[in-house]
Formats: sequence, C-alpha cells, structure tokens
Amino acid sequence: MSKDTSAHDCIFCKIAAGDFGTDFVYADEVCVAFDDLNPQAPVHTLIVPREHVVNLNDDPDPNLLGHLFGRAHEVARLKGVADSGYRIIQNNGEDAGQTVMHLHVHVIGGSQLGEGLV
Ligand code: AMP
Ligand code: ZN
Repeated sequence: MSKDTSAHDCIFCKIAAGDFGTDFVYADEVCVAFDDLNPQAPVHTLIVPREHVVNLNDDPDPNLLGHLFGRAHEVARLKGVADSGYRIIQNNGEDAGQTVMHLHVHVIGGSQLGEGLV
C-alpha cells in the first residue's frame, strides 16, 4: 500500500463496508459500484474494490484490475448505457486529478461525450 494514505479513514472503504447505507448500483464479493456524488454526465458511477488499494502505483493484483474493468459492462448495462456507449476513466495521482486515494473506475455515459481525452 502506498504510504500517503491508509484504509483507516478512507471514505471509499467506509462506503464499500456499507457504513453510510449507500445505494449500490452493483455489488459482489470484490467490489461495489455507486453513483458519483458530483456527476459529470447523466450516468456517472464509480466501481470501487472492497480492498483498500490507492491506485495503480500499488501494483494491484491483475485479477482485481480485471474484475473491476470486467464489471464495467454490467454496471453500464444496469445504468442503461451499455448500448449507447460509455467511457471508463481511472485516475492515478495528482496530475491526473485523483482526489480519493482509493482505487476506482469511473463509468460515464448517458450523453454525447467530448471526443478529446483530456
Ligand atoms: P477521482 O478524481 O478520480 O479521485 O474521483 C473521485 C470521485 O469521487 C469524484 O468524481 C467525486 O465526485 C467522487 N466522490 C467523492 N466522495 C464521494 C462520495 N462520498 N460518494 C460518491 N462519490 C464521491
Ligand atoms: Zn480505502
């Protein structure tokens, strides 16, 4: 685990543990998905591992990464955007704009998104 954060007071660890009674779009033994507090598009859902991992610099288990990305289709389907299209974003560190230091995958869709990557 990276040294700059801990699971102790991590908001996403608490959400994943059900501490706030968050409505999960999807949940299984490895991850939960819930809508972003500050949505950037009509659909903006986060897929979050139950395990505290900061970002890719933690060299997460490839099976975990595969699981998170593998569930994106199901989350998009549940949110009704699988066929219309959706974008996956995953930020690592300051320059990328990572604000929550617990690995997460954004699933964004529901409108025509910009063509640019940044
Ligand atoms: P990132 O910039 O990739 O770290 O994304 C963090 C995302 O988490 C942002 O889009 C925030 O709006 C979102 N967020 C922060 N706190 C919460 C929360 N308590 N519930 C849902 N989404 C949150
Ligand atoms: Zn955490």
